[in-house]
Amino acid sequence: MTQSTSLSAPLRLLGRLALWQQILIGLALGIGVGIIFKDDALVLAPIGTLFLNAIKMLIVPLVFVSLVAGITSMQDSAKLGRISIKTILIYLVTTAFAVTIGLLFGALFAPGEGMNMVASGAAEAKQAPSLISILVGLVPTNPVTAFAEGNILQIIVFAIALGVSLNLVGEKAAPVTRLFDGLAEAFYKLTDLVMRFAPFGVFALTAGVVGSHGAEVLLPLAGVIGVIYLASIVHVLFVYGGLLALLARLSPLRFFRGIAPALAVAFSTSSSSGTLPVSIECARKNLGVSQGVAGFVLPVGTTINMDGTAIYQGVLALFIAQAFGVDLNAGQYLMIILTATLASVGTAGIPGAGLIMLSLVLTSVGLPIEGVALIAGIDRILDMARTTVNVAGDLMTATLIGRSENEIDSDIYNSVNKP
Ligand code: ASP
Repeated sequence: MTQSTSLSAPLRLLGRLALWQQILIGLALGIGVGIIFKDDALVLAPIGTLFLNAIKMLIVPLVFVSLVAGITSMQDSAKLGRISIKTILIYLVTTAFAVTIGLLFGALFAPGEGMNMVASGAAEAKQAPSLISILVGLVPTNPVTAFAEGNILQIIVFAIALGVSLNLVGEKAAPVTRLFDGLAEAFYKLTDLVMRFAPFGVFALTAGVVGSHGAEVLLPLAGVIGVIYLASIVHVLFVYGGLLALLARLSPLRFFRGIAPALAVAFSTSSSSGTLPVSIECARKNLGVSQGVAGFVLPVGTTINMDGTAIYQGVLALFIAQAFGVDLNAGQYLMIILTATLASVGTAGIPGAGLIMLSLVLTSVGLPIEGVALIAGIDRILDMARTTVNVAGDLMTATLIGRSENEIDSDIYNSVNKP
């Protein structure tokens, strides 16, 4: 009895905090519990899995209906074309920035210097998909298969085609358009409900990851972990914050506060696809980005815009070169920028995908593939950082596009009472 009253007071207090604050508390507690209880923290895993399942359940239907509803809300096809071009441009430019920052930090802090690793040439790289096969695979031969397999790129292509066709049909298709609008609202509501559980889910997931990565795995590679985290923070604060302040004249602080729930979910799940429903919710509810822009820019970004992954490739390419004592020339640096940008485009928004793409970057400049094995044990910790940057980059782009197309509600963006 006394125990329940002593517990209910802090819980009531927690309930009064904004959701983003609750989620950050969940994250901090998760880190603490992971450090204290180590592997035992894995007993919390089912709570994390439950939360993950619930948000994953939303991805396919939410992306599909919100993209169709987004496109039908933009009857003007010239506008749609303009938004697509701007989106791709911002994605590519920020990604090239990201690899460069990664390379700069890798060169500056030289985390692999003095490791004296020797390449045996024995390790086998996992095969990364080629760019052509990614392009050809964009069009689904059977949309139902794309849905069943959760192939987001193919779902995007199908949704855009259907949305454009509904626009072309016009009046006769109006009931279907309204149906998609209604369904999109229902999925937004469902995301909202699932997110109430986020503080617990984030807590359990973080405790599990931190608990299962002991100091003995992390310490030898602490330098490279630190450099990747630092480069990621600098990129998010200065490139994203700077672009928002300079190009969009919007407060970076309000932006970061509005996207905090999405960042915490990205950090604890290491999956930008998994975070997509939360990103869309943050963009609409906290930043005031219109459904059309959020529903289009975010799903596309989740699959092709991976600045965090690009930073990671840049730092690691240099780290591995340093560790194995390889000197890189200017041409190889350029090659890293090019392949890391392309590799990040081809990386799926799921845990661990960036590690597979790393082999593509390493082989393109003749660096030893064993570098992948060196990193594998700590990759999850690095994945948490890169996924967080990936998600922040998508949201920053959605905000910039929203601003430039007059598709942002500044009252919501500037509101101090964000949920
Ligand atoms: N896990 C990352 C993401 O979902 C992708 C990667 O592994 O780089 O954004």
